[in-house]
Amino acid sequence: MPQNNGLCETCQWVRLIRSDRGSEFLLCRYASEDPRYPKYPRLPVLVCAAFREAAAS
Ligand code: SF4
Repeated sequence: MPQNNGLCETCQWVRLIRSDRGSEFLLCRYASEDPRYPKYPRLPVLVCAAFREAAAS
């Protein structure tokens, strides 16, 4: 996962997307629930009302 992602790093809504060229992006799946949230948030996200900590695996 890319570094310095802030809250997204431990959020249950995040997905790591890897392009064909090897670039990595964080996709916020909450954006499909609420269009006020960007699909690809500007990082690091320091404050986010939709943040939900992911359960430890
Ligand atoms: S809900 Fe907020 S903290 Fe979670 S992935 Fe989306 S932007 Fe990041």
